[in-house]
Amino acid sequence: MSERTLRGAWHRSIFVKLLAIMLATAVSLVFFVAGFFAFFLGPNMSMSSGLFVEYARTLADSGPDLRTATRIAERLDLQIRYEGPEGSWETAPGLPSLRELAAGHGRRRDLIVAPGPRGGTYLIAWPSVQRLHTAHNRLLWLLHVMMAGIILAAYLTLRHSLRPLRALHDGVARLSEGELDVVVPSRTRDEFGALAAAFNQMVRRISEMIRARDQLLLDVSHELRSPLTRMKVALELLPAGDKRQRIAADVAEMEAMITELLELERLREGRGLRRERRDLVPLLREVTESFQDRSPGARFVTTAAEIQAEVDGDKIRAVLRNLLENAVKYSLSDNLPIVVAVQEDEGEITIRVTDDGPGIPEADLANLFEPFYRVDRSRSKKSGGYGLGLSICKRIVEAHGGSIVAANDIPRGATFTLTLPKSP
Ligand code: ADP
Repeated sequence: MSERTLRGAWHRSIFVKLLAIMLATAVSLVFFVAGFFAFFLGPNMSMSSGLFVEYARTLADSGPDLRTATRIAERLDLQIRYEGPEGSWETAPGLPSLRELAAGHGRRRDLIVAPGPRGGTYLIAWPSVQRLHTAHNRLLWLLHVMMAGIILAAYLTLRHSLRPLRALHDGVARLSEGELDVVVPSRTRDEFGALAAAFNQMVRRISEMIRARDQLLLDVSHELRSPLTRMKVALELLPAGDKRQRIAADVAEMEAMITELLELERLREGRGLRRERRDLVPLLREVTESFQDRSPGARFVTTAAEIQAEVDGDKIRAVLRNLLENAVKYSLSDNLPIVVAVQEDEGEITIRVTDDGPGIPEADLANLFEPFYRVDRSRSKKSGGYGLGLSICKRIVEAHGGSIVAANDIPRGATFTLTLPKSP
């Protein structure tokens, strides 16, 4: 899966799911706390405010003097001020006068103005209500800030914790593209760390197995050369005839296979290339034209006058010949001609070989370039191949620093796309 597909599938991402769970938890918590404040704490607070109003009015009605008022104020944590015809007094400083209140100064949520007997007025304040309101508001703020902090911390932690998963995804993608030296960092000690370590070990084992397989192929090919030479000499001693001809054909086929296998090995890691700067257009045109007369025909297409690249001309020629041989082999005579197209983009050259044949089963596309891989063994045997052609093409293209992929076309046919860097 490419990075773009991974991003596009955000709704399937574990990160987004975990973040959504966290946000849902945080939002439910906010609702819970807000509900607690709105339906429990709020009504209780307004009930106590109501009680205070009632009590303040009753107290004013009873017309307490300074001594009684001071005693009540101390006991109930109240502030009382009196203004009347006999003068004014207060149990503690801090309350506004009636004139100040009329002028709009010193208004407080906990201040009750109540008429007393004999034309006096009492100003009674209950600072606890004010303190309770302040504490209530601060608590709400604190809760919001805490919630935001928790969400931010959880987001950052999640992002950090899921980073190994992204690295693992990249590693798997690189492995599936054939890179056998991928190492995923496994710094954490959690499950992701263990997974990354297991993945690295798996990649090591796979590359060891592939290396062992390649080495075995190479050793067997080397070992077979001497007996084959001996067989060729012995064949010369046999009387001429059908039998000798059949054995000679088999020996020649084995020799060709061994030569290809040794060539495959020589091409590994860019060995066996003789690069030079040259124009690819005439080279590709010449190879394509040599297939013009073979059914279903071949056509060369390009808009470029010349495409300069540093390549091994003989090897590129061999790749195109191989692809065209296959296209011819698997096409029928009434199919459209094979098209070879080349184009040059920024720093990259793309060569496409498109045929109108039966195409390649989707399940085989990934393994097509493996040595000895054939889609339909009986069909390929009849058509003379043994599954080495495409793996040699791949080695040649990779030795040039490029890549080759196969894809099916709609409604039918297959396209092999080669990408070569302009300079190595
Ligand atoms: P072979 O020598 O058997 O052709 P290759 O490595 O060249 O081996 O190809 C591997 C397999 O890929 C073939 O057996 C064939 O089934 C399939 N193949 C290659 N090219 C084409 C094509 N143009 N159309 C359909 N199948 C193809």
